[in-house]
Amino acid sequence: MKCPFCGEEMMEGYLKAGRYVQFQELRDGKKGQEYLVAKSFMGDAKMDGFLCPYCRKVILNISLVEERPSR
Ligand SMILES: [Zn+2]
Repeated sequence: MKCPFCGEEMMEGYLKAGRYVQFQELRDGKKGQEYLVAKSFMGDAKMDGFLCPYCRKVILNISLVEERPSR
C-alpha cells in the first residue's frame, strides 16, 4: 500500500500493544469520549495495518469493541 501522505511504499504488519488500547478524544483541550480500540484476554492486543517509516504514520484496522461513539 502506498502512503496516502507521502506516496512511499508502506510496511504491512500489525501494531501490538498492551491488553487494552484506548483512544482518548480531546475537545478544546479537554477529555471527551474514551474509545476502546482493541483488547485481548491473552497476550497483546494486535491491530493489523500499515506503517510509513518516511513520514512516521500508522494506518490501522481496528475492531469495533464498543458501540460507535454517538455524534
Ligand atoms: Zn508516508
